[in-house]
Amino acid sequence: MTDTYTAFVSRGWGRDIAKRLGLPQPVELRRYRPGAPLLPGPALLVGSGPSAEAVASALTEWGVEVRREGAPDGGASRPDDGAKAPKLGAIILMLEGIERPEDLSAPVLAAGQAVRSLAPSGRVVTLSRRASTQDEPAVAAARQGVEGILRSLAKELRAGATGNGILLAEDVTADAPSVIGALRFLLSGRSAFVDGQFLTVGSSAGELPSDPERPLEGKIAVVTGAARGIGAAIARTLARDGAKVVLVDVPAAGESLAKVANEVRGTALQLDITRQDAGERILAHAVGRYGRLDVVVHNAGITRDKLLANMDAARWDSVIAVNLAAQLRINEALLGSDGLGEGLHIVSVSSTSGLAGNRGQTNYAASKAGVVGMVRSTAARLAARGGTANAVAPGFIETEMTARIPFATREVARRLNSLQQGGQPQDVAEAIAFLASDAAAGITGNILRVCGQNLVGQ
Ligand code: NAD
Repeated sequence: MTDTYTAFVSRGWGRDIAKRLGLPQPVELRRYRPGAPLLPGPALLVGSGPSAEAVASALTEWGVEVRREGAPDGGASRPDDGAKAPKLGAIILMLEGIERPEDLSAPVLAAGQAVRSLAPSGRVVTLSRRASTQDEPAVAAARQGVEGILRSLAKELRAGATGNGILLAEDVTADAPSVIGALRFLLSGRSAFVDGQFLTVGSSAGELPSDPERPLEGKIAVVTGAARGIGAAIARTLARDGAKVVLVDVPAAGESLAKVANEVRGTALQLDITRQDAGERILAHAVGRYGRLDVVVHNAGITRDKLLANMDAARWDSVIAVNLAAQLRINEALLGSDGLGEGLHIVSVSSTSGLAGNRGQTNYAASKAGVVGMVRSTAARLAARGGTANAVAPGFIETEMTARIPFATREVARRLNSLQQGGQPQDVAEAIAFLASDAAAGITGNILRVCGQNLVGQ
């Protein structure tokens, strides 16, 4: 659901008033609907070479009209018998081959010429190589430069358009499943609230789904904290994408847990995740009901805010216990078990507060930054088994938790990002569903922010 202000300024005289007074003008974002076209218009592909061909053929297969840089008028429009040319659905900037800072100029400026032709909720996606300490300084400089370009351009885009990038590790080519999978995710309405971010594809592992609308067909997934809020949205989204879902929450939330479980045709497991045997209980339930476990989403989390000067042990310890120690213990149990097949995908929910810090949240930020450390280390351990561990870091999301923030503080907090609005639980769920899919098997140890390019942190 869009907040009232966004709905008011999105159309008619509300939009005119906001424009005249210079007020924030958030728009309703293009979100994924099964069966809807991938993009609201043609895609302009800037760049040539084998990577551009791989991307062009994927776009064509997805039913997207591809324009190449170099068409008259920069490819942005193609007047046809006086009819108004459709706006661009996306600009895809292929920067994989750049080796010196000077190489950036031509492709980046060509893309810039097309930005004005981008449709509302359009997309800019860069595809480039990750800078590494092994690179020559000039190569590393040029590659790192792409991050500055993309993050700045994302802040210049308007009307719900977003800019994100894909970084390729040295031996990964643009036709790798996770590159194509990441491209589809970033172009689609599934990434509505992901802005100014990069996904790093570290290997050529993975497989594209036979039906892109059902990327989790046949998978068995566990979601903790699934009785409400973001967790319920995750359960619904994984089920929509084809997974069988085990929904975990505390016994006190049993009634709403059962309701969501029935709705998604999954099973409910009443369990406090801080129990010592939580991992074994989860595994026994999943394997007992469905024979295996493919995806684990660590979503359950709590806040107990206080300035550190006023913090007591109960507040500190409970947050660390639920948000971090429980995830560690459950992962230990899962990784130590033979009951798991190859290719386990673990996705944890972190927070922008963990990345940037937040007044009154030393305990919460410790737990959410801790999740980042845990995910990176777990990713390295899972790699040998073909599994992945990633995190999403939501910014301001419209939930019961944020609805409790006093009005004025809430109004400021939800506008402090490039899209000038709070995200929906669905937006976090979509990013998790992508990272849980086999199309993302080449992506591990990533922290993907779902924050509309929140001004805090990167
Ligand atoms: P919420 O409070 O609405 O839901 C959390 C769920 O977790 C509840 O159903 C609760 O019963 C369950 N839970 C709590 N402790 C548990 C335990 N010990 N065992 C099992 N279940 C337990 O919160 P939400 O807003 O939906 O947040 C979900 C996650 O997203 C949390 O990890 C939160 O920190 C994170 N997050 C939220 C926001 C936001 O803006 N709402 C921003 C960043 C991160």
